[in-house]
Amino acid sequence: SGPVTAQLVASRVLDVPDFPKPGIVFKDLMPLFADGAAFREVIDDIVDHHGRDSFDVVVGIEARGFVVAAAIAYATGVGVVPVRKAGKLPRAAYAASYALEYGEATLEVHQDAFTAGHRVLVVDDVLATGGTAQATLDLVERAGGTVAGFSVLLELSFLNGRDRLAPRAVHALLTV
Ligand code: AMP
Repeated sequence: SGPVTAQLVASRVLDVPDFPKPGIVFKDLMPLFADGAAFREVIDDIVDHHGRDSFDVVVGIEARGFVVAAAIAYATGVGVVPVRKAGKLPRAAYAASYALEYGEATLEVHQDAFTAGHRVLVVDDVLATGGTAQATLDLVERAGGTVAGFSVLLELSFLNGRDRLAPRAVHALLTV
């Protein structure tokens, strides 16, 4: 359930100061991924939140989102579509660029990734400023998918990603 899962995430995230650059506190969720029982619990909680019949495919955002997406897909019998950093996908892709603190990042999805109208659950590990999620949700829609929901394991509320994504709903297992 919600409070139990939030506590699970809180107890299995490691704060890494000054990674990948000075001033950033990296939220490392590898201990959660590495704990089989805890990982299963958080995956089941995401599925229960949305309902297992509410989506037709899961999108994972490179790279840690892939881990979450693949587990949800296997648990529910749907497929996975990767949203990748620029230049990684082998076939025709849509691209979306967004501003980072320094510079710009680009994400891509294959143009034929979705059957028209397919309901897409989008997942990642951490929501920070929301730029990554916003670009991904835009890509899903450009490629013909319908966003059914967006979940993260951890939301950094002081960066206001939730506001940036409004009116789309954000489901976070833990908000700090
Ligand atoms: P943003 O676009 O600012 O919401 O950043 C979200 C993306 O960057 C996600 O794919 C996260 O994995 C990663 N990310 C951003 N900030 C952090 C952080 N403090 N700790 C871990 N991952 C982060």
